[in-house]
Amino acid sequence: MKTQTRAVVIGGGIAGCSTLYHLTQEGWTDVVLVERDELTSGTTWHSAAQVTNFGMTQTMVGLKSHSIKLYQELRDDPDYPVQYNHGDGGIRLANTQAQMDGYRHFASMARGMGVEFEVIDAEECARRHPLISTDNLLGGLWDASDGDIDPASLCQALARRARKAGAEVYRQTNVTGLTQLGDDSWIVHTDKGDIACEVVVNACGYRVNEVGAMMGVAHPVTSMEHQYFVTDEIPGIVAAGHRMPLLRCPISDYYCRQEKNGLLLGFYEQDCKTWGMDGISPDFSNDLCPDDLDRITDVLEGAFERMPALMEVGIKNVVNGPITYTIDGAPLVGPIPGKRNAFCIIGLRAGLGEGGGHGWLLAQQIVHGEACYDTWVIDPRRFTGHGTVELTALKAIEDYQNEFRFHFPHEHRPAGRPIKTTPLTPVLAAEGAEFTVVNGWERAEYFKPAPDFEVTHGFHFDEAFEVVAGEVAAVQTGVGLAEVNGFNRIEVAGPDAHAFLDHVICGRVTQKPGKVGLGYLLNDHGCVKAEATVANIPDGPVWFGSAAAAEWHDLDWLRGHADGFDVSLRSLTNDHTILVLAGPRARDVLSACSRGDWSKAAFPWLSVRRAFVGVAPAVVMSVSFSGELAYEIHVPNNQLYAAYLALRAAGAAHGLRLFGARAVESMRMEKGYLHWKADLLTEFDPFETGLDRFVKMDKEFVGKAALEARCAKGPGARLVSLQVESTTAPAHPGASVMLGDEVVGTVTSGDWGHRVGMNIAYAFMRPDQAEVGTQISINMLGEAVKAQVIAPGVYDPEMTLPRG
Ligand SMILES: Cc1cc2nc3c(=O)[nH]c(=O)nc-3n(C[C@H](O)[C@H](O)[C@H](O)COP(=O)(O)OP(=O)(O)OC[C@H]3O[C@@H](n4cnc5c(N)ncnc54)[C@H](O)[C@@H]3O)c2cc1C
Repeated sequence: MKTQTRAVVIGGGIAGCSTLYHLTQEGWTDVVLVERDELTSGTTWHSAAQVTNFGMTQTMVGLKSHSIKLYQELRDDPDYPVQYNHGDGGIRLANTQAQMDGYRHFASMARGMGVEFEVIDAEECARRHPLISTDNLLGGLWDASDGDIDPASLCQALARRARKAGAEVYRQTNVTGLTQLGDDSWIVHTDKGDIACEVVVNACGYRVNEVGAMMGVAHPVTSMEHQYFVTDEIPGIVAAGHRMPLLRCPISDYYCRQEKNGLLLGFYEQDCKTWGMDGISPDFSNDLCPDDLDRITDVLEGAFERMPALMEVGIKNVVNGPITYTIDGAPLVGPIPGKRNAFCIIGLRAGLGEGGGHGWLLAQQIVHGEACYDTWVIDPRRFTGHGTVELTALKAIEDYQNEFRFHFPHEHRPAGRPIKTTPLTPVLAAEGAEFTVVNGWERAEYFKPAPDFEVTHGFHFDEAFEVVAGEVAAVQTGVGLAEVNGFNRIEVAGPDAHAFLDHVICGRVTQKPGKVGLGYLLNDHGCVKAEATVANIPDGPVWFGSAAAAEWHDLDWLRGHADGFDVSLRSLTNDHTILVLAGPRARDVLSACSRGDWSKAAFPWLSVRRAFVGVAPAVVMSVSFSGELAYEIHVPNNQLYAAYLALRAAGAAHGLRLFGARAVESMRMEKGYLHWKADLLTEFDPFETGLDRFVKMDKEFVGKAALEARCAKGPGARLVSLQVESTTAPAHPGASVMLGDEVVGTVTSGDWGHRVGMNIAYAFMRPDQAEVGTQISINMLGEAVKAQVIAPGVYDPEMTLPRG
C-alpha cells in the first residue's frame, strides 16, 4: 500500500469509483481509493440503477448527459463490457396541467444542453408503454435515453480504467481517522496503515457522517429506507416484443422498469422511515434492511391501477436498502465547508444515474478549482449553519414523500419551517406576510390582502400578481419598508483590508471612508465567482456584503486568498438584518426617526454612516436595488424590532407600506440588476456578463491572466435583457431562447416589471444574437413566445431616482 499519494478517495461505491476514474482523466494519476469492504458493498450493489437524463437545472441535465455518454462507452468496451440497457425510453407521468407545464419547461431547458425530451399525451404514453391505463392521466415527459445499468460491473469498469491510468484501489481497508497537518495536507489513517495525501474525498454513502466526524464535520445527509420488488414474468411484456419504457409516477409515487421479463417497482411511500440516525452497525455491509411491504400498500394500489397486469403476477424478491438524502434533494459535491483540501461526493439519492457526472464535476473542481458547469446546485456550502441533522431528517422525509413531484416556482414546502427567523418574523406574519425561504431564512414574499389569500402554484403569473403590483406602486409613488434577512456580511478588518479587497476584486472599489461600491470577484479561470457590496464604514471596518446563501462560499474564497495580507475576516451574517426603506418619501421617513442630516448633499447616493434609527444603532447605506431613492438600514438583531417600530411610526404620516421579495424581484429586473447564481455564474466572464464597467484591466487581480486569455478568444456569450411578448407567464430560468429551431440562448431570470408594464427576462445569448433590437423567441411552456433584445435597465435608465 502506498504511504504517500495526491488524493485519497474514501469509499468504493459509484461515487468513489467515478471520482477516482475522473481524477485520472483530469490528469491526477497518483491517486488512491480505499474501501472498507469490497467495491459496491454500500448502497450501490442493490440499486435499481436507472439512468435518466431528466434534471431540473441545466447543470443536472449536463452531468447526467455525461453519465450516459460514459456508460455507453463502457458498454461498448470490448474488453470489459458493462450491461447497460440504454434507450428503453422513460415516461414521467402527469395528471395536472401544472405538472405538464413543468415538463414543457424542463424540456425547453434541456434543449439548451442538447437534450431533446418530448411532452406526450395520455394516449401516446399508453401506446409507448402497453401495460398502462390512461385513467387519471394527462400525459407525460418522454426521455428517449432512459435506461438502467448493472451497478457492480459499472463500478468495476471505472476502477479498472482508473487502475490502468495509474490509480490504486485498496479493498478491505477501513479508514479509521483523519489528521490535517499544518500545511493543509492530510494523513488518512486506515487499519492497514497511514497514507499521506494532499486531498481527501469523502464518498462514504450512508457512512458519510462517520467519516465526516473524523474531520469534525457533520454533513446534512440522512438515510431513508427505500424498497423495490421484482415481479415474476409478465405475459404482456413478452407479447409486446420490445423492452418496456421506464415509468416514474408523481401521482402514486413509484418507479418501474423492466427486469428480465418482469418489472422492478420501487416505492416512495408516505409512511417512510429514516435509517441509521443513531449509528450504523460496523457489520452492516453488503446488507439490506428487513422487508416491510406493509408500508407501501397505499402506493402499491396506485401502481396496480395504472398497470393492472401487476395484479396477476407474483413477487420474486424484495430489496429494502438505505438511500441518502440532503435538505433539498440534490447531493453535496464539492469542497467541504470550512476545510481546506477536503471534498465530498455524498447525499446521492440517484447516484447510479448521476454518479458518472458528479464524479466528473468533482474531479474538475479538485484538479482545476472549478468545473465546466456552475456547480452551485450541488455545492456543499449552500446550506449554512442551519443544516442540522434534525432539519435534514425532516427535509429528507418530505423530499422522499415527494420524490417525483418537482417544486413549482415560489413553492417552499413546510417541513422544518420556520428555520431561521428574526425578531420581525412573527411581527410581519401578523401583518399578513406570506414567506419565502432564502437559505433557510423566512423572508416576506408579499403581504396578503386577506388572511385566507392563497396562490395556485404553477408556471404562470399567479393570484399575487396584483398584490405585488400594489406593493411596487407604493414604493414607486410613496415609501415602502422591507426586511432583508440573512444578507451575508463579512467584516474585513486589519491594515491590509483595502489591499486585500483590491486583490480579489476585478474592479477598483472605492476606499473612501463613508462610501459604498460594488465589486466582482473572479475565479482562477477569469469567470464570475462572487459579487460584493463593499461598504467603508467611516470609523472602520470594511463590510463585504453579498447574497444570503453566499456566506460559507464567500468566506471560503476570501480565506483561501488572504495569505500574505494582514486582515481578519468575521461573518456578521447572523447578527444583523437589513431594513430597506425605499421610495421618493424614504428620506422624509428616515429624517423623522433618525438624528442627523440626511439631505442629498450631506448623504448622497452610495454613502454609508453609522446612525440611530429611533434608539437602535444602525449602519445606513444609500444604495438601491429597487431603483428608487432608498436606504439599507443594517440593524443588530436584538434591536431590529425597535428600529422597525421607529420606522413604522415615522412612516405613518407618509403612507409607508410593507413590501416583500416578489416586489423586489420585479423592480430589480426593471433596473437590469443581477442575482448571484441566477445571472452571475462561473461559466461566464465579467465581459460576457455585461459587467464591463466593473473590470479594470490596468490593475492586478485574481483571475486576470485567465480573463485576458478568454478575451483574446472573444466572447462565447452575452448576457442581455429581453422584452417578452407574454402577459400570462414569466420566462423561467433555463428556458431556451430560439432563432427558428436553433437554440441561441438560455434564460437566467424573468419577471413582470410592474413600473414599466413589461415582461422582462435576462438571458445568456450567442454573441451574434445579442444586439439590441434582435428578434428571437423563447420556448415558454411549449410555445414559441416572441421576444426582443432591449437595453438593460428599462426603468429610469438615467439613474436619477436613487440619487434623490
Ligand atoms: C433500493 C434502492 C434503489 C435505488 N435505485 C436507484 C436508481 O434506480 N437509480 C439511481 O441512480 N440510484 C438509485 N439508488 C440510489 C443509488 O444506489 C445511490 O445513490 C448510490 O448507490 C450511492 O452510491 P455511493 O457511492 O454514494 O454510496 P455507497 O454505494 O454506499 O458507497 C459508499 C462506500 O463507502 C464505503 N465506506 C464507508 N465508510 C468507509 C470507511 N470508513 N472506510 C472505507 N470505506 C468506507 C462503503 O463500504 C461503501 O462501499 C437506489 C438506492 C436504493 C437503496
